[in-house]
Amino acid sequence: MTDILDAIRPATIGAQALFDKPRAFGMLIDGSWQQAADGRTMESLDPATGKVIASFPDAGQADVDDAVAAARKAFPAWAGTTPAQRAAILNRIAHLIEAHIDELAELETLDQGKPLYVGRWAEILAAVAQFRFFAGQATAIEGRTITPSITYQPAGKQIAAWTIREPVGVVAAIVPWNSPLVLTAMKLAPALAAGCTVVLKPAEDTSITALRLGELMIEAGLPAGTLNIVTGRGAVSGAALAAHFDVDKVAFTGSTATGRAILDASKGNLKRVTLELGGKSPVIILPDADLELAIAGSANAIFFNAGQVCVAGSRAYVHASIYNQVMEGLASHAQALQLGHGLNPDTQMGPLVSVQQAMRVEKYIEAARVAGADIVTGGKRCGKFGTFIPPTVIGNIAPDMDVVREEVFGPVLVVQPYDDIEEAVKAANDSQYGLAASVWTESLSSAHRLSRQIQAGTVWINCHAMFDPSLPIGGVKQSGYGRDSGLAALDNYLEWKTVCAVI
Ligand code: NAD
Repeated sequence: MTDILDAIRPATIGAQALFDKPRAFGMLIDGSWQQAADGRTMESLDPATGKVIASFPDAGQADVDDAVAAARKAFPAWAGTTPAQRAAILNRIAHLIEAHIDELAELETLDQGKPLYVGRWAEILAAVAQFRFFAGQATAIEGRTITPSITYQPAGKQIAAWTIREPVGVVAAIVPWNSPLVLTAMKLAPALAAGCTVVLKPAEDTSITALRLGELMIEAGLPAGTLNIVTGRGAVSGAALAAHFDVDKVAFTGSTATGRAILDASKGNLKRVTLELGGKSPVIILPDADLELAIAGSANAIFFNAGQVCVAGSRAYVHASIYNQVMEGLASHAQALQLGHGLNPDTQMGPLVSVQQAMRVEKYIEAARVAGADIVTGGKRCGKFGTFIPPTVIGNIAPDMDVVREEVFGPVLVVQPYDDIEEAVKAANDSQYGLAASVWTESLSSAHRLSRQIQAGTVWINCHAMFDPSLPIGGVKQSGYGRDSGLAALDNYLEWKTVCAVI
């Protein structure tokens, strides 16, 4: 294994600056970069090395109040822009992100840990695609004309009725640490396209690319106050946003537990809430599957981004006739993956985002081992800073084990054999979550049937985690409600207004 601390020097000036000396970022309020009113700050660490790479403000209630007031002040002007004006700015933002792809990918690697190539296409280019898609959608917002059956209009008159789509208002976008830039883009692009103004709250562990994105968005010509960014602790600045009486909507991506807290906090002014929450996504491999594709695909479904993916395929149900072959294939894929610092070009899997997260994941593996599961490969934390978890495959599981029921959010796959497909569907649906699933089969009719039987917001067939700005993504059950991406996402940020006239 390459020395995990063997980080190459970043090539761009922006990332080199963090690499050489921690940078003190400010947060964006009303077009200017500010420190917290009480001067508190937090630190960002390179998760591979534990080295401090940046500091940023730890916002309090006063800062959140200022950011929300700025968004409110900016709202009438932004909502009053033409769709083409909003589209032009969103396209310029996309262009600037693309022009800074190397710097942003390096910053994401330093801050979050993911390998550079993963950051480049799954975050930075994916963020570009979000801004371009919603730039187009900004110019395609439509209401409807309706012919009502009202019979009590004055004699000789008619009723004309239509609907108008209007922006919801001030949006608080709260995002997690696993894919910071693209998840941010998935909120900002549709919100701004709809004419909303935004206060963004990035995650404590990964605020850097959001702050750099803010700089690029100002450079793209976004008016002051249209986007504000407050950093800091979820329980403080995040909670203050969720409870704020002048926030009209919270667009949240994160854990189910925090989603519940946000829902509680939002009750005061009945703000709109959409929740993209956790998952425990099943992968079902049928006996007629193309096994080479299915094994590589299901390994990638869990080990990509070190399993820190909301839709990670963390439970595999494999037909008993192919179980041994699939287990061997998964184990050898896991063992072949090169762990290392994300800046190293040979690295295929980086560290987890923090020591706490790695310890949490290790605990699940250890509890499974104690309960009698077989840890086929992986299992123990490693690396000088203790943030690496090798790709882990677990067999001989029981359905009530925590590692089977709870979202581990690390590179940990549990595998279970099944005899008939009804049993596999029942096991797949036996979860509080319903975010995503994949089915691996050469049978068209099995694929169609299973895509209907599985309780999930997305079902992939012979693939996993295929994202596109045009494809809605979100959950059923305790994986939340509302959708990111696609036309459905724009709806989150628009209200229907009905106009009814006697003519
Ligand atoms: P988290 O819920 O701990 O934090 C998410 C965000 O919420 C952070 O910005 C945090 O600071 C903030 N926050 C924390 N407490 C808060 C509170 N009381 N009020 C308001 N904001 C608060 O989640 P995480 O650990 O950062 O991220 C991992 C989780 O995100 C996983 O459960 C994963 O499945 C989920 N996720 C879901 C999707 C999806 O599309 N469904 C996508 C990515 C990640």
